[in-house]
Amino acid sequence: MEELRKSDPEIYDLIGKEERYEFDSVRLIPSENYASAAVLEATGSILTNKYSEGYPGRRYYEGQRYIDTLESLVIDRAKALFGAEHANVQPYSGSPANLAVYFGLVKPGDTIMGMALPMGGHLTHGWNVSITGTFWRSVQYNVDRETHRIDYDAVRDLARRERPRMIVCGATAYPRKIDFKAFGEIAKEVGALLLADIAHIAGLIVGGQHPSPVPYADAVTTTTHKTLRGPRGAMILCRGEHADAIDKAVFPGLQGGPHNHTTAAIGVALKEAATPEFRDYAAQIVRNAKALAEELLARGFSLVSGGTDNHLILVDLTSKKVIGKKGAKALDAAGIVCNYNTVPYDPRKPFSPSGLRLGTPAVTSRGMREPEMKQIAKWMDEAIAQAGDEAALKRISGEVAEMCHHFPAPGLSIR
Ligand SMILES: *Cc1c(COP(=O)(O)O)cnc(C)c1O
Repeated sequence: MEELRKSDPEIYDLIGKEERYEFDSVRLIPSENYASAAVLEATGSILTNKYSEGYPGRRYYEGQRYIDTLESLVIDRAKALFGAEHANVQPYSGSPANLAVYFGLVKPGDTIMGMALPMGGHLTHGWNVSITGTFWRSVQYNVDRETHRIDYDAVRDLARRERPRMIVCGATAYPRKIDFKAFGEIAKEVGALLLADIAHIAGLIVGGQHPSPVPYADAVTTTTHKTLRGPRGAMILCRGEHADAIDKAVFPGLQGGPHNHTTAAIGVALKEAATPEFRDYAAQIVRNAKALAEELLARGFSLVSGGTDNHLILVDLTSKKVIGKKGAKALDAAGIVCNYNTVPYDPRKPFSPSGLRLGTPAVTSRGMREPEMKQIAKWMDEAIAQAGDEAALKRISGEVAEMCHHFPAPGLSIR
């Protein structure tokens, strides 16, 4: 980044510091990852110069001879990888992708039914502060109070009572497999459309570690930057019968020109995700999450639902007598980055909840395995026990950085 260094030292310096931080720390934010150098190159390419409102063969701008080929190639890769009838690769990110699906398939004021945010659902699944809980009538389902799992009978009862136009499944903080087939049956019974939002688990699905919703859902949305390890962006996959409505909702309904540099980088990520190495990666993400969960349990941490079968762990810190925010801050000072999070039926307020959300996609991208997960759990235990002790946290952060130096991260120039 020589040109950037010369022309804008302030920005250059901040990017350099962030890179150092991403190299020296254990990153356990489950929605984060390390995109490959190839993905970053496509993202930083001259494609950022182009305008191309419309779709391949149907543009409002001339000059599309290469862009049309590019977008068609990426659409074909998306359809092939997920086995979908139609793909739209233009949504700017996960939230606008969900908005486009509602806008395309649900009339304003009609009912949508998603999982409540404090239970692990996403803001855009109809939570009241989101546009999705305002423009549409929203009803929300919870997880079971005892098992912390989705209670499919309760979901069916609510759907029968409320007769939603669309049911939304998928989550942002749910450590267990989601039964997309069951959701498909419930939607069918009540005459609802089904949207599956696989933003967090798309990489696990293509890697064979989680069942796919594609056979059961009318539309599937996903971000491309989480377990899929691509650029920041999103895609909508849908049945052929909804293709027109979805495409029109994205453009001209919601967006202007697509971000072609992102489209290209999504294509690169989809090609990477179709390899045997990526399948191994997805399997290791889950093994690492299980190893981390086991060691945390052995050290007296309490986990929502008692464990995990995906990439994500929700810790209830109540048993450690530390609140989520304080725990997350102490861990960051110790070089372990995660976020505080509500736990189901959290007695505390959302801006200062009881839990922590952890995930293994990023550390797995660095080649860390079960022994490192054990070590990370040990450091977490020490950091939480000494949450106010700056010297202790600093000592741990040194040990964390030492370990990290043995695991080069994809895309970083520091080795
Ligand atoms: C991350 C996420 C989104 C939103 O993605 P953004 O790119 O942050 O807008 C949507 N749905 C779920 C389930 C997510 O986890």
